[in-house]
Amino acid sequence: MAEISINPQRIGLPEKALSSLCEQVKKSLPLEWIVESLVTDLKESDKGYLKGTCPFCGEKNLTLSRKHNVYYCFDCRKSGDVISFVARIKDISQIESLAYLYQLYGITTMNVIEHKSEAHE
Ligand SMILES: [Zn+2]
Repeated sequence: MAEISINPQRIGLPEKALSSLCEQVKKSLPLEWIVESLVTDLKESDKGYLKGTCPFCGEKNLTLSRKHNVYYCFDCRKSGDVISFVARIKDISQIESLAYLYQLYGITTMNVIEHKSEAHE
């Protein structure tokens, strides 16, 4: 089967569709899942908050809010959502980051569906 991937250069979706994709990714993809692969000391601090070493400045002041799905560093003051985090880490644009995350997210969803249908048989 041919692989279909999103080429970030080719995203020509209407603005409305693009922003709803953005919202979907920001809401449904836990930032924690992305950050924990880079920040190995990520730990629960206050209820609903995680703390760890900031991948941007190296200080132990990165805070994640599970409720709002955003990050903030009390040292370098970088903050944002899952899309901006990936864009900063990979040094890519917000659109490229969205395409990257959407692909990741899509693959995850498909894996779950495949797994379920296997279990059913
Ligand atoms: Zn920082």
